[in-house]
Amino acid sequence: MTSSTDKRALKILGSAYWSSSGWKNESNVSDADFAYAKKAGLMFDPIYVTHERAVQWAIASRESVSKEHVVSLFLGSLQSRRLDFRSSLGSFAVARNFPHHKWTKSETATHNCPICGMYETQNKPTDMNVLNFERFKWGGVRHANPVYIGFDLEQAAKMTAPPREAGGGKTLNNILDAAGSMPSGARLSDLERKISPLFPSNKNERRTLIGILGYCGILVDPSRPTFLETFPPFESRTDAPRSKDDWPYPVRWWRGTFGVSVNAVRFWFPEL
Ligand SMILES: [Zn+2]
Repeated sequence: MTSSTDKRALKILGSAYWSSSGWKNESNVSDADFAYAKKAGLMFDPIYVTHERAVQWAIASRESVSKEHVVSLFLGSLQSRRLDFRSSLGSFAVARNFPHHKWTKSETATHNCPICGMYETQNKPTDMNVLNFERFKWGGVRHANPVYIGFDLEQAAKMTAPPREAGGGKTLNNILDAAGSMPSGARLSDLERKISPLFPSNKNERRTLIGILGYCGILVDPSRPTFLETFPPFESRTDAPRSKDDWPYPVRWWRGTFGVSVNAVRFWFPEL
């Protein structure tokens, strides 16, 4: 997809999974609709992705895009509310230090790879459509999943970033100013509310955006490993105390006292 997206295909993708009352229990799309959305590049046949293939895919897709490209897409998403533009920064941030590795059995996470967290699903096909739905709906959900990384960055490589306008940078500055000036005990839900008036968005979109800034190393607990410097293995991504709220690692450890990592902002957005 480039800057224009086929509206009918997008509607087919959206209504396959979502209704006014939320997730659908079962997705049923007519053959004709599926064929249309597939031709438009928004829906896909299910594919079998082994762990080894997923790792290769994530790494190859990472090599197919530049930091500047995903940053331009991200900045272009903030005022336009093009959530599909927003996603790839999160995937790229996780992928930068993503290691070549093979599946090993872990004692603590029996069904997940201890390095990347991929679930043991070799015998089941992966539904790429739900991943693409999440990408368009919220800016992605599973930025740390190698299958999603491979897919998301492959899509990003085909996209044309909108010309850089002052709007995106200004919005991001306002978001970072807000995050940097919260009371020391402020939590992620406080931050989510605080940035609500700053750009067109709903709660889930703001949560995703905050998660992406965590993957970038911008909103983190500086005493814990971040994806900016390393690749924190799945097994080491500990839960924060009292966090029943399903925020991803590492942003789940953020509190107001940590503010914004200036080094990480300089790395991703040197022009801010
Ligand atoms: Zn793995």
